[in-house]
Amino acid sequence: MPRNPKIRRTGATTAAERVAAAYRCSHCHSTTGGTWRDRHGIQHLAVAHDDGCPVLTGALPDAPDALRAAVTAGCSAILVAWPPKGGAA
Ligand SMILES: [Zn+2]
Repeated sequence: MPRNPKIRRTGATTAAERVAAAYRCSHCHSTTGGTWRDRHGIQHLAVAHDDGCPVLTGALPDAPDALRAAVTAGCSAILVAWPPKGGAA
């Protein structure tokens, strides 16, 4: 567990949970949802952006905010995916 003071004290133990605690969208008041690990062992994090957020519409990438959260969380690797243009299905 990293000892970064920017991470909220939430009891997060997995990398995805630490990233969730550190994540802030630069364009809206997003909230982070659940985290899960898939059958390949890859951890996932759901982020809910406000309606009209340029990240949600696909106009801007989520990569800068996700990378910032990963660095704050002390993660060494992260994969970023965002909804296709026009928003999530
Ligand atoms: Zn957003």
